[in-house]
Amino acid sequence: MSPGEIKRVIIIGAGQAGGETAQRLRQGGFAGDITLIGEEPAPPYQRPPLSKGYLKGDLDMDRLLLRPASVYAEENITLLTSLRAVWIDRANKRVRVEGGRELPYDALVLATGAKPRKLPLVGADLAGVHLFRTAADVDALKPHFVRDAKLVVVGAGYIGLEAAAVARQLGLHVTVIETAVRPLARVTSPEVAGFFLDEHTRQGVQFVLGGQPAVIKGRERVTGVALVDGMEIPADIVIAGIGVTPDVALAEQCGLTVENGIVTDALCQTSDPAIFAIGDCAARPMAHFDGRMARLESVHNAMEGAKIVAAALTGAKPHTVEAPWFWSDQYDLKLQIAGLFQGYDNVVLRGVMADRSFAAFYYKGPKLIAVDAVNRPAEYLGAKMLIQTGRTIPPGELEDETRPMKELVAAAR
Ligand code: NAP
Repeated sequence: MSPGEIKRVIIIGAGQAGGETAQRLRQGGFAGDITLIGEEPAPPYQRPPLSKGYLKGDLDMDRLLLRPASVYAEENITLLTSLRAVWIDRANKRVRVEGGRELPYDALVLATGAKPRKLPLVGADLAGVHLFRTAADVDALKPHFVRDAKLVVVGAGYIGLEAAAVARQLGLHVTVIETAVRPLARVTSPEVAGFFLDEHTRQGVQFVLGGQPAVIKGRERVTGVALVDGMEIPADIVIAGIGVTPDVALAEQCGLTVENGIVTDALCQTSDPAIFAIGDCAARPMAHFDGRMARLESVHNAMEGAKIVAAALTGAKPHTVEAPWFWSDQYDLKLQIAGLFQGYDNVVLRGVMADRSFAAFYYKGPKLIAVDAVNRPAEYLGAKMLIQTGRTIPPGELEDETRPMKELVAAAR
């Protein structure tokens, strides 16, 4: 079906990827029906602040919304909230929602996201044990997030460390249990992870690294976490931040190709040409992974998918692929990441960690592949531009802080 023949688009999943797709379709001039279906009660909102300002109480739900709730009606986008899509009939191009109603589509976009992993432990269902994915998850947690409460966080990824930082700022006692020997193992190098470990320790967070939680203790409410080695950590609240699994249930039900996520081509098209998949639930060949299949869990990837699909459905020119980016706020530290560090063989530091302002540049051979910048926006922006355009600063030049980043970027080849 050519873009001009597509009159009805259904988007399943009203998170960042789904919400952006609806918006970009209209901005791109798509005049047909757009139906956006989401399980949560709110219109599309940003998840990153959930483990930062929203948990801390600095931001309310209105500030999280991608766009004001009134925009959907104004732009003639049918937003169906608190509703689950339960079945896809590919032969007849229809989506069935809870309650049995069937909605026809010409093009379908799966932006179903990911589900947080539950702790695979006895006691994981006790009151006081929290998953951390939705605004409702955080709303349930917040009343217990009070001074002197004992918090155990399982998993030292972004969720775990951002929640730990907020908890310390609010005066909770915090212990983080991580199975790996260091925090942030999936997302950064040992050097930068070590810096964050030191910072959290200085702020009073206790770490159990290489720790294996065995049982969540308690009768009705959680009282502690026992580890395999017999150690027991008292807890009033437990947060599970042990990663997510892509939500591929609908895709599997209707027979699309699924591996680690719904498999698509570089244009986000699944094994059915009328169905696209984007965001956390989907894997596609990525330029920044040398064309290999990858599934990225990030705002950048959600927005990238939305742009690609909107261009495909409106017949617009495909946009330029941007270098992946991520960020994390912990205490007064703003970590900004560009590129993908996996496979690096050399890391060069610009600035001094003890100053709480530095950037780690990752090289694979002579090529700059990623940067982790802590309170260093110029280094982040400069490196992002270089990674995107395949240019490199010779590593030796970076260490010379008398040369401004702007000058180094301008001279890069
Ligand atoms: P994550 O980044 O995958 O980190 C989970 C961590 O928990 C990993 O280090 C993992 O180690 C560890 N782990 C797994 N099973 C464990 C167990 N049974 N006991 C102890 N540790 C265990 O996931 P997340 O922090 O839960 O975040 C969830 C999603 O939200 C991700 O997509 C993340 O990118 C996103 N998020 C992003 C940000 C941000 O970008 N700033 C902020 C919040 C959330 P192994 O890898 O060894 O299994």
